[in-house]
Amino acid sequence: MAIPDLSIEFFPPQTEEGIAKLRTVRAQLAPLKPAFFSCTYGAGGSTRERTFATVMEIAAEGHSAAPHLSCIGSTRDGIREILATYQAKGIKRVVALRGDLPSGAGDSGEFRYANELVEFIRRETGDWFHIEVAAYPEWHPQARSPRDDLIAFKRKVDAGANSAITQYFYNADAYEHFVAEATAAGVSVPIVPGIMPIASFSKLARFSDACGAEIPRWMRLKFEQFGDDAASIRAFGLDVVTELCERLLTVGAPGLHFYSMNQSALTLDVCRRLGR
Ligand code: FAD
Repeated sequence: MAIPDLSIEFFPPQTEEGIAKLRTVRAQLAPLKPAFFSCTYGAGGSTRERTFATVMEIAAEGHSAAPHLSCIGSTRDGIREILATYQAKGIKRVVALRGDLPSGAGDSGEFRYANELVEFIRRETGDWFHIEVAAYPEWHPQARSPRDDLIAFKRKVDAGANSAITQYFYNADAYEHFVAEATAAGVSVPIVPGIMPIASFSKLARFSDACGAEIPRWMRLKFEQFGDDAASIRAFGLDVVTELCERLLTVGAPGLHFYSMNQSALTLDVCRRLGR
């Protein structure tokens, strides 16, 4: 099954060893010919330099690179400066987010929600950037209601987003339902599902609780049954994620965005199974 468009996400490494490892990972993933590699951005600008350095390395290797940029805790001047730097370096795509302030962090800055960041980017830089925004098929954990979350999503698109990448999920029905609701609300930009390959079930379970992604009961019980048997977890995880991708592509997903966690093996395995 051909994947129409593929993108792959990294986080900015902290150490020289991590930087070197990510270079190798990128070289391993490059044959998949992703439309772009993206790099996350720590809340309140905590990874500002490292995100920039990673994005510049990706671009220097000849790949299309998309920095993530979160606005909570930031000033307009600060964001303006980052955008100008990326523009000067020829970066044409950005993933625009609100982000989450670490608990206890006081100053939420001059932006409240991601739609304000999208609006600001358009106002400051016109059509220079292709703007991606986040979407939540199982709804954002802080949303007052699914309806409010859909309205918030549409607001980001109306502010000028070109496409969206979803939070990961393992329930294809949630994606189908979300896309149908967004379409009915007048959203016509591509909504690309975010895919989280499964390396370790215990880590995934912790992470999913925090970001509001649901692991269906049938999957959770199967994973729990494997205990510490890493090979069985990996094999079952690969089957589940490949079948999810197949189903998403069958129902018309415009592409797949892989949360690589700076590893290549699982993303490569899933993509090979999909015929990439
Ligand atoms: P928003 O779209 O602003 O929504 C946040 C919440 O506010 C939602 O509940 C929404 O319903 C609500 N809301 C929006 N507008 C309004 C309004 N006007 N009034 C009331 N409520 C409103 N985080 C990082 O820190 N760095 C990253 O690099 C990063 N990359 C990500 C990439 C993807 C593809 C995804 C899906 C998430 C990523 N995140 C990242 C996580 C993201 O920052 C969090 O999920 C954050 O809590 C919400 O960001 P958002 O851009 O979706 O916010």
